[in-house]
Amino acid sequence: MYSKLLVSSLISLNCLCLGSLQAQENRIHAVNSVSHAYDFHADWGFQRQYLKDQKYVKSWCALYNADLSNANLLFLWNCDNRLAYNEKDKKTVDNFLKDGGGVVLMGRGNPKSQNELLKSYGVEFAGKATLPLEAVRYTDDEVTVKGEALTLKLDNPKKWDVIVKDSKNNPVTASRKIGKGTIVVSARTIMGDHPDYPSDSINAGLWRGIWNMAASGKNVDPNKPFRNNFIETLEHRTQKDGMDINYSDYMKPYADAMFDISKRCMPVIENRMGVPLSPGMGSRIILIPTDGGGYSSGEILALAVWWGGFPDKEDSMIEFVTHEAVHSWVLPYPEIWNEPIATYVGNLVMCDMGHAEEGNRRIKAAIERARKHDPEFNLYDMRGNTNKEGVQPLAQSAVNDVHWGKMYWIFEELRKQDPNIVSNYFKAKREHAKAGSLKKYDDNNTVAVLSIAMGKDLFPWFQSIGFNVDKSKAEIEMNI
Ligand SMILES: [Zn+2]
Repeated sequence: MYSKLLVSSLISLNCLCLGSLQAQENRIHAVNSVSHAYDFHADWGFQRQYLKDQKYVKSWCALYNADLSNANLLFLWNCDNRLAYNEKDKKTVDNFLKDGGGVVLMGRGNPKSQNELLKSYGVEFAGKATLPLEAVRYTDDEVTVKGEALTLKLDNPKKWDVIVKDSKNNPVTASRKIGKGTIVVSARTIMGDHPDYPSDSINAGLWRGIWNMAASGKNVDPNKPFRNNFIETLEHRTQKDGMDINYSDYMKPYADAMFDISKRCMPVIENRMGVPLSPGMGSRIILIPTDGGGYSSGEILALAVWWGGFPDKEDSMIEFVTHEAVHSWVLPYPEIWNEPIATYVGNLVMCDMGHAEEGNRRIKAAIERARKHDPEFNLYDMRGNTNKEGVQPLAQSAVNDVHWGKMYWIFEELRKQDPNIVSNYFKAKREHAKAGSLKKYDDNNTVAVLSIAMGKDLFPWFQSIGFNVDKSKAEIEMNI
């Protein structure tokens, strides 16, 4: 699950250098519609990697309501097979092409719903490409592919320009003129997909050539507004029982189920956290069409409607709703174990909501994964560092397991002494870690707050389990 809070520190890198090439490029205003399938790459990471110095916005509302008036490129990266493009969507795409716009549609996996739309343009995603791939135009560079790539079946090959082909001459990326506009269809796996790593800009030169060609049929006006079709444009906003849920027309069938589960989770989360959400935090829930995660930006919780088989199954959704909510709940200072504690509280809430067996199984499993690297749980801190002489720092590949499992183990140990330690910890944190009162909420301040919650000095215990903590360095005074 991506947390904007966590990843915002990772996006200061910059990698595309367009140099003199930029001067020859068209002005591009690109809209990426995430309405039929949310893509975590469709963000600043993508713009930095592939559209630097061009305008790029994300569109959350139904495709047929997207403002494309001052756009010349439309990305349709995916359509979840639980949804489909309806007649109004198809008309929107047709009209955009008629106006000279470029439409870029990319597929991977089983693109059933995408093929439904593509049929009317005489193309569909077909079989598996035989590597290596080769670009026929726009670049001499080798084409990088992540895993497998889909090939295209073209009804009338003469109407299409093949851009990338596989080693058996099957098209993998191709474009076709439709009126003044251009449609580009391609395997998704020849573009990067990591939202927060600008280094994932595979085949950037090839894609820049494609954007430039596809957008060339329509001029955009840099002096006219080109706006984000952000969440304000979502078709529905339902406020009831203190909750505020936003969703598009396509998400309407799932809204009631999400409302119901969120409403049932919130008081249980509050009980486990010991304090209410801070005013303004996590107050708005956005339903996103994916089974692949969500994020919290403090005020907004974006939740995947199909997470863990929801709405047919609810246990994983309880963990997930809690996970994202806890990211908001812990603010203003994120936790040193920000990801694991969010899921840990999720597992406790699962137990409280009738899924004790599965909740406890997940807690045990996380602890066992860490035990392999730290059998007595006395070697490493949250980052795999150690204060023990003669102990080697943890291998990078094991850091994640220890980061999660050790946090779980610490709280399970403390819970044996005080069953309410989680809520007492967050109560103490709310009181002693007020916004602006601390330089940073680090290991020392965390142990100080845990000590206050337990009513005893935990610094010696944390030192004995591998943490390099020092009471005198904590900004929070314990007064125990
Ligand atoms: Zn998270």
